[in-house]
Amino acid sequence: MLIKKNIQNMEPYISGYQPLPEKDIIKLNSNENPYPPSPQVRKFFAEMDYSMLRYYPNSSSQGLRDSISSLYGIPMENILCGNGSDEIISLIFKVFLNIGDKIVTPYPTYTLYKTVADINQVLCQYIQTGNDFRINIQEFIDESSNAIFIANPNAQTGSLLPLEDIEYLLQNYRGLVVIDEAYIDFAKENSTALPLIQKYPNLIVIRTFSKAYSLCGARVGYCFADSKIINGLDKCKESYNVNYISQEIAKIALEDQTYLENTISEVIRARTYLRDQLKLMEFEVLPSQANFLLCRPLRGDAKEIYEYLVRQKIYVRYFDSERLNDKLRISIGTITQCDTLLHHLRTFYSIN
Ligand SMILES: *Cc1c(COP(=O)(O)O)cnc(C)c1O
Repeated sequence: MLIKKNIQNMEPYISGYQPLPEKDIIKLNSNENPYPPSPQVRKFFAEMDYSMLRYYPNSSSQGLRDSISSLYGIPMENILCGNGSDEIISLIFKVFLNIGDKIVTPYPTYTLYKTVADINQVLCQYIQTGNDFRINIQEFIDESSNAIFIANPNAQTGSLLPLEDIEYLLQNYRGLVVIDEAYIDFAKENSTALPLIQKYPNLIVIRTFSKAYSLCGARVGYCFADSKIINGLDKCKESYNVNYISQEIAKIALEDQTYLENTISEVIRARTYLRDQLKLMEFEVLPSQANFLLCRPLRGDAKEIYEYLVRQKIYVRYFDSERLNDKLRISIGTITQCDTLLHHLRTFYSIN
């Protein structure tokens, strides 16, 4: 076979099940936003000049980067846009990591880091989080590694690493530090590592339009870093990595901060509601600063509950892996969707 050994041997990335769109399903398995994108995006589609599609898009997402730059007060030379933040993660490996290098990441976390490491023949070393799934930053400072990847808030758990810990890491580690802030908009204020990019030339902060801006389908991510890092990433990206429509609608969504704030506060309200209701139903619920809850049923088997919910057309996420296989990860839906989920959980318990 011509397929490279490391590709033959690697485990593929497994995404949440994506059922075909149907009216009555409730999809709480990929941390998508239950609300549509900004109504300004709909207006764009209504008025879009489709003949624009004959042109190539702007290769450096200039208009979008300009808006990101004004919103955050960060120069454009410190910003790069990607075809989802997943592209940015792949680019980081392409640009910074050689065959045989090592990255360090907590366990559990976003499993794509390991997948991309495998593709690039980079070793991915997991550091176990504590009993409460908190990250002990001291354990990450290992000069034999080349990069540290931390999702903050962390994927699968929703736990937030305090900014002081990130700064401590940057003061004590010389490799590359990647902070993936896919869920930062749902976390308490001033948790972002963004202000640190001016001070530390080895820091990359990744963001996405997928979660808080409800644009998973548009595939737009971006990152902030020292201009030297941005230049390296820019050389290696696909020339037209973000398509015209996605550049336009991401810019429009970004400029509607009022809508963003409203949807975020609705999601946070539903997060508190669902947490309290699950606790009443004998679930242990991990504190979450993201748009999902990781919870463990004290009664009944997590996988059985997962399968029961699928039969009711409710999709949550079950991970058949260490420390997660007795838990469910539930994305935060609308209050109505949460109520439907809770109703079916009550039925499950009454018949079991
Ligand atoms: C969802 C998610 C992403 C993926 O973002 P895209 O921009 O849709 O590629 C990246 N990192 C983490 C931790 C995520 O949970």
